[in-house]
Parts: sequence; structure tokens; C-alpha cells
Amino acid sequence: MGAGRITLLGVPFDPLGMEEAVARIASFLTGGECHQVVTANPETVMKAGEDRELMEILQAAHLVVADGIGIVWAARWLGTPVPERVPGIELAARIVDLAAQRGYRVYLLGGAPGVAAEAARCLEKRYPGLVIAGVQHGYFTPEEEERVVAEVAAARPHILLVGLGMPKQEKWIYRNRQRLGVQVAIGVGGSLDVFAGRVRRAPGWMRRRGLEWLYRLLFQPQRLLRMLALPRFVLKVLARGRT
Ligand code: UDP
Repeated sequence: MGAGRITLLGVPFDPLGMEEAVARIASFLTGGECHQVVTANPETVMKAGEDRELMEILQAAHLVVADGIGIVWAARWLGTPVPERVPGIELAARIVDLAAQRGYRVYLLGGAPGVAAEAARCLEKRYPGLVIAGVQHGYFTPEEEERVVAEVAAARPHILLVGLGMPKQEKWIYRNRQRLGVQVAIGVGGSLDVFAGRVRRAPGWMRRRGLEWLYRLLFQPQRLLRMLALPRFVLKVLARGRT
């Protein structure tokens, strides 16, 4: 938990840019306990407002970064700015890069059957030297959870990427943090689908203009309901007023 944390509608954020976030995660990798990293977007903040368990997990997390332009805007509006957005997919890629360079073992958990394995192949190609300690798809039953946790621990990874969607992945990590045997666990949403080449990211010009959400909406229209969290978030922040 960093000093100088800001709070948005009750959710803590570490005001760190990408480079600082990566450096913080690198420092976690030298310690023994499991550090939970969360990339939180407006949907996360709105969900935490109605889900006490999620709110408590966010408050206990070792690092919470601003995933998306909505959080950057709100933090600035409220007078407690964060330096830049730290998109979950980019942070996940930087963590994998760090792992490849320093010899940390990475475990990929989540996605439809075959996705994590495909993501592993693509990442190993893209980051020479990367060691994927193991993979597991994200559609196991609650009864299988014990086995999955035991398999992760037995593979002895340093870093665990969990792509089960928010808030399932945050709860899964928190619930099992003491038994996973990893130093860093991070929820990565649909990043494994992107790493596996199954879902494309928005083109650079859209990302730079903060329009990635629009691209995702166009190609995954089933996200519309979820995205209504964004206008609700904006209204709530405006109602809160500037400090
Ligand atoms: N997923 C999973 N198990 C589940 C539900 C979802 O592995 O029980 C995966 C799903 O296949 C997808 C990811 O979780 O890869 C969620 O992706 P989404 O883009 O919705 O997540 P976000 O990044 O928006 O949190």
C-alpha cells in the first residue's frame, strides 16, 4: 500500500504512471507474501459501491492503478490527479516482459479452454526467455477450485495472471492468496484473449484519444449494459463535486 493514495468514491488508487507501477511490482517480487494488484476502471468503482466484499478487497490490495481515461478524468476533477492511465492489458504485458528479463515464472489462469495455452505460446514467442510455469482455463467449477489452487502452487510461479473477469478474478485471488505461493497476483480481465490473438485491441489512434471503450463496444456489443456504468460513474463523480 503506497503513501499518497487517493480515493475515488471510496476506492483507493495509487497515483502512479506505468513506469512507477512496473517498478512497484518489481519490488513486490523480492518479498515472500502474495501481493494483489488491481487495475480498476469506472465499472470496478461502481461495482465496489454495491459490493462490500469487492470494496474491502480493493482497500486491502497492495496496488490499485487507474485503468482507463474515466478514472484519470475523475481523479483530476476531484482535485486528486493521477499521472496517467495504466491500461490493464499494457500493465500485464509489461509484467510478462519483466518476468522474461529477470527469470520470473508466470502462470496463466482464465479464459475459455485453450485460450491460456494459446496465450502462453504467443507470449513465449514475443518475449524470448519467458518461462510459463503453467496454464489453466477459467471455466472450472467451485468444486475444482481446490485442485486448481494446488496446481498453481505446485508449479511454483512467481507471478499469476488471472483472467476471470471483474470482480470474479479479484475475489478469487483474495480468497486464495495465502495458498497460491506467488509473489504477485493480478486480475487481467480479457487480456489472455488478446495475448492469444482472439480479441483485437483498438487501433493506436483510438487508444491515444481514450476511445478504446468505444472500440470494444462496437466489436463486443454485449458489453453495452456493463458500459452503462460509465455514465453512472460520471454523474456520481460530478454530484460529489470538486474538493
Ligand atoms: N472468464 C473466465 N471464467 C469465467 C468468466 C469469464 O475465464 O467464469 C473469462 C472470459 O473468457 C474472458 C475474461 O474472463 O477471457 C473476461 O473478459 P472481459 O473482457 O469481460 O473482462 P474485463 O477485462 O472487461 O474485466
